[in-house]
Amino acid sequence: MTILEVKNLSAGYESDHVIQDISFSLEKGEFLSILGKNGSGKSTLIKALQGLLRNISGRISVKSKDLFSLSPRQIAQKISYVPQIFSFSFEFSVTETVLMGRYAHQGRLGGSSPDDSKIMDEVMALTKIAHLKNKKIAHLSGGERQRVFIARALAQDTPLLFLDEPSSHLDINYQVEIYQILRQLQEEKGKTILATEHNINLAIPYSQQIMFLKNGGVQALGPPESLITKKNISEVFGAEVEIRENIHSKLPEISLIPGAERKT
Ligand code: ADP
Repeated sequence: MTILEVKNLSAGYESDHVIQDISFSLEKGEFLSILGKNGSGKSTLIKALQGLLRNISGRISVKSKDLFSLSPRQIAQKISYVPQIFSFSFEFSVTETVLMGRYAHQGRLGGSSPDDSKIMDEVMALTKIAHLKNKKIAHLSGGERQRVFIARALAQDTPLLFLDEPSSHLDINYQVEIYQILRQLQEEKGKTILATEHNINLAIPYSQQIMFLKNGGVQALGPPESLITKKNISEVFGAEVEIRENIHSKLPEISLIPGAERKT
């Protein structure tokens, strides 16, 4: 079943379009990683896909419904978003933060429904944060904070989950932990996931599709097996690399060449 269909999407902030003519589709349960240099348009694409930009053209359909015909509340029932974590002071507790995810499902007068506490318990168990319930977000480590924001997105109970660089600011153990949680969500909950990522080798084993963005356009799109080539990496990132096979996953893996000159 196709969950997300994007056709000829162009979008930007003022008069110019930052991303141009982007088309792709995602089937239920697929994981798409969006990779590209800084400034290539990854965050802009994620914003555009949530209907957050006004200067936009093309088509976005979520479960065959035109995104532009939906209210913000209806969009929030279909797409949840995990922003990039950074050290900010966020005065809310873990429980309060996760509960915000239920907002799109509450009645006009607000207030929790009996479903809320069941869902809250479930998402906190899935993301292993139940023991942190009463702590303030500001007092958590990066990995714990990332799990809280994933829990908030899960509480929103949407078929689509978008994440902006879920591995940034995390050490390698936490990076793998976050991606293992995402894989579990795909496999057990059938979530369809779209994430921007800097770490190409981390994205490869978890993605069914990879999109390389360059100057706001799609340079290449496909499964990692065919997409991770020296030529593509050189064209997209201007970096000379070697490609090897990962001995565990048997998938391609990038190896940096110390001292190799960077092409622009
Ligand atoms: P990436 O996420 O790949 O680093 P972005 O989508 O953030 O790339 O940026 C792509 C381009 O859009 C850049 O040239 C950037 O300057 C521009 N841009 C990003 N955010 C804004 C904004 N709020 N207003 C105007 N231009 C922006």
